[in-house]
Amino acid sequence: MARYTGARCRLCRREGMKLFLKGERCYTDACAFERRSYPPGQHGPVQLRIKLSDYGIRLREKQKVKRIYGISEKQMQKYYEMAINMAGPSGHNLLQLLERRLDNVVYRLGFAPSRTQARQMVNHGFFTVNGRPVDIPSYIVKPGDVIELKEKYRSNSQIQENLQVRVQRGIPAWLELDAENFKGVVKSLPSREDITIPIQESYIIEFYSR
Ligand code: SF4
Repeated sequence: MARYTGARCRLCRREGMKLFLKGERCYTDACAFERRSYPPGQHGPVQLRIKLSDYGIRLREKQKVKRIYGISEKQMQKYYEMAINMAGPSGHNLLQLLERRLDNVVYRLGFAPSRTQARQMVNHGFFTVNGRPVDIPSYIVKPGDVIELKEKYRSNSQIQENLQVRVQRGIPAWLELDAENFKGVVKSLPSREDITIPIQESYIIEFYSR
């Protein structure tokens, strides 16, 4: 399935929550969801009053996660298969796998203001993992991995600013950032509390296992 290239703010309005797809803009008054928190389209406000079916509720939870992490349906199904074959609650496994993607880790560490930009940076070979170049956004990190910005990109003032903003907002407990040396370390696997996304992950498992 092709990647969505339309207006990203429409996705937040469709899902009824801020998905933080546009970096700094999401934290300002310019956020479209702050101004129009109903679904897009002519009948958007009416749709707010429509009660979703059980299937619809589960579909929307799945769509939210897919859109937050910016992945395709095929990738989502792949993560589901991996999650149900791992030990522990499948819903948590699924979120944990998504959270461990390299593009997400680059975003969480603050090198980029959004996952979309983080993915571009990874694709363009900005980073090394444990000293080796990695340009695969779906690379799954593990505890002990060291993610570093390559030397030649460290003078980029935008990246420096992004890191400062992230330091002020806080780094998730499972990661550690050394902003001065443009380096991040994966301290542990993310717990459910570390993944601060208001999602009912069990609904996603139910959606795929129906
Ligand atoms: Fe969503 Fe608001 Fe960010 Fe647009 S600006 S992507 S509506 S959170």
